[in-house]
Amino acid sequence: MSVPCPFCYLPSDRIIDSNDAGFVLRDAFPVSPGHTLIVSKQHVGSVFDLTAVAAGEILETFSG
Ligand SMILES: [Zn+2]
Repeated sequence: MSVPCPFCYLPSDRIIDSNDAGFVLRDAFPVSPGHTLIVSKQHVGSVFDLTAVAAGEILETFSG
């Protein structure tokens, strides 16, 4: 039995911004004030496993 993905069942009010490839949310248990997560919509084991298109969309939208 696999564990459900916690990021697929977030309340929409937790999401600050999103695009086709990913979304941004405030950490529910922040390690520092304002700690924010950028999450891909692709289920991969590492950021290095994202497709180049998805990685590009995420970086272009959320890095500025
Ligand atoms: Zn998910």
